[in-house]
Amino acid sequence: DSEIVLVGRSNVGKSTIMRELTGHAVPTGKKPGVTRKPNHFDWSGESFMFTDLPGFGFMSGVEGEHQDAIQTDIVRYLEDNADSILAGVLVVDGKSVIDIIDRHSDRGNIPHDVEMFHFLEELDIPVVVAVNKMDKVDDKDERLNDLCDRLGLFPPWQQWDDDTIAPITAKKGRINALREVLSHHLHEAKRDDLL
Ligand code: GDP
Repeated sequence: DSEIVLVGRSNVGKSTIMRELTGHAVPTGKKPGVTRKPNHFDWSGESFMFTDLPGFGFMSGVEGEHQDAIQTDIVRYLEDNADSILAGVLVVDGKSVIDIIDRHSDRGNIPHDVEMFHFLEELDIPVVVAVNKMDKVDDKDERLNDLCDRLGLFPPWQQWDDDTIAPITAKKGRINALREVLSHHLHEAKRDDLL
């Protein structure tokens, strides 16, 4: 069974995206932890699992040790299921992502988003970056180029818009860029006989 996973910090808009993509309401229980929320999803005659892996990165009200355990669970889930995962959608908040990444880097830490991006790549899971809340971003090209830079993708961002970078505004239903990037990966998987 093919699966598409959504990962990202809390509050970046994962539930909203899931709802827009699947067309049905998803439970938005905010219980921290790897509460897998599988959603059935039909697309181009194919049937998918859509899985939200909440709790990645910082979650307010969660102790550091528990936070680490959640992180470990997510990593293990991705490792165990890498073969059947068609794409890993890393969701970020376009408004704050650069500030958050740079703040962590300045402190000598690897930012969660950057780490997850490379981890998915290491597992050979095609990575899609859904840059959400673009309605709150003024200079879109600059923000997306900065993000490419932080992720080690050679700018300009338009070089990556067919398979990796998808600027969206999920709250207003503007998720076409994400649909297109996902369908790109769906077609590649079909071509490679993975479906
Ligand atoms: P999750 O914790 O990652 O599942 O995030 P949610 O889907 O619950 O969204 C968190 C908050 O961001 C909610 O208040 C949403 O209405 C809001 N939100 C989601 N998408 C957008 C967007 O595209 N633009 C703006 N401005 N807000 C959004």
